[in-house]
Amino acid sequence: KQPIQVIGGGLAGTEAAWQIAQAGVPVILYEMRPKRFSPAHHTEHLAELVCSNSFGAMASDRAAGLLHEELRQLGSIVIQKADEHAVPAGGALAVDRGQFGQDLTQTLSSHPLIEFRRGEVQAIPEGIVVLATGPLTSPDLAEDLRRFTGMEYLSFFDAASPIIVGDSINRDIAFMASRYDKGEAAYLNCPMNKEQYLRFREELCKAEQTELKDFERETAKFFEACLPIEELAQRGEDTMRYGPLKPVGLSDSRTAERPYAVVQLRQEDKAGQLWNMVGFQTNLRWGEQKRIFQLIPGLEKAEFVRLGVMHRNTFINAPQLMHPTLQFKARPTLLAAGQLIGTEGYTAAAASGCLAGINAARLALGKEPLTLPATTMMGALFEFISSASPKHFQPMPPNFGIFPELGVKIKNKQERYGHYRDRSLADLENWKADSVDS
Ligand code: FAD
Repeated sequence: KQPIQVIGGGLAGTEAAWQIAQAGVPVILYEMRPKRFSPAHHTEHLAELVCSNSFGAMASDRAAGLLHEELRQLGSIVIQKADEHAVPAGGALAVDRGQFGQDLTQTLSSHPLIEFRRGEVQAIPEGIVVLATGPLTSPDLAEDLRRFTGMEYLSFFDAASPIIVGDSINRDIAFMASRYDKGEAAYLNCPMNKEQYLRFREELCKAEQTELKDFERETAKFFEACLPIEELAQRGEDTMRYGPLKPVGLSDSRTAERPYAVVQLRQEDKAGQLWNMVGFQTNLRWGEQKRIFQLIPGLEKAEFVRLGVMHRNTFINAPQLMHPTLQFKARPTLLAAGQLIGTEGYTAAAASGCLAGINAARLALGKEPLTLPATTMMGALFEFISSASPKHFQPMPPNFGIFPELGVKIKNKQERYGHYRDRSLADLENWKADSVDS
């Protein structure tokens, strides 16, 4: 049997290789370190954690915690080793990164069906392949991937605006309308009077920013067209009002007043549970973003599923290119996982590695690839990245906003999340039982 090739020994590739081998299929895992390092990696271990040592909240009624639980059900090696090397971190699953990486490297290297090869892969190989080279994919391979996907479907920089849970927006203030009433009312608009606008601008101008890494500063130069909101604020009193906050063509039919400035929110998911702040790419610190964006009328109680980021990130336009099985539409023997497909964070990378590995092994065994139930955190994430609007696609972390409705209204948030958790784990159990012999 031809071995499956997994490219990239990060969070996603390590999990994918493990799942393939556990299914009884031989696999070659390629990792370019230590022959070549990305600007953020420093060790030769598999699944190196490039920054924080935390996999997010542990409680299973939180988005990250539910993802941990689902991965445990699916026999994830990444979460098993995270559990084994956990260090105290309040309510989070954090690990001793040295032990975690060393143990994974040793465990995978000694698996009889895994051949571990150190070296950079510069072009997408033939055969069944899982691409998992992450946000800092080496330039030659990124170029080959760009040839494969088409120029416009591979991004090198993530300039993502914050995303807000729909239920947390005050609809007594925010109103639905499109500029000049063109077409169907498609945006939620948060109106500001002059005093509110000036205060908001003042706070933006003095807010604390995150430090960009050197390699990110280099990349950022190429993104003049996509200026952070705080930079626009600093350029002049009215710059934002002539840019993303322009009020023209937008009036609230309830009051017929013309606002001084308007923050527009665009629907992010099909169900309208998530709203993206248009033009709010930002380098502000996360605490500052929450504090300042909650000054916007209508967003006083906004719950953010993702805050704005601007950093180097290689990712494909998954909604255009991929199935929720994590196969490319244009080449079903090619799968991809990790940050490269537009999910965000360590746990989400392991999760997509898990499904890509399961499906790559199924292809090798002549079986149909599987889709996870959209009621699970994993299934909801893969459904989102394969069906979001390709035009505005930006990476998405695990969150409950992408879940299908429960069918009953539960006002208390923690209680609602508990129901999501129960439904997810039950559906995953049934899915596992159904898919074992299919
Ligand atoms: P990676 O873990 O990066 O793995 C990709 C692997 O592929 C690497 O080992 C790389 O060496 C290898 N590779 C690349 N190109 C090739 C090639 N051509 N041939 C062979 N091997 C190759 N997420 C968090 O949850 N928390 C954080 O604190 C956090 N901080 C981050 C900080 C930075 C600077 C960056 C860039 C990202 C950060 N992320 C963080 C996001 C993080 O990258 C992902 O969560 C996670 O590492 C993605 O997993 P992955 O498997 O997709 O990529």
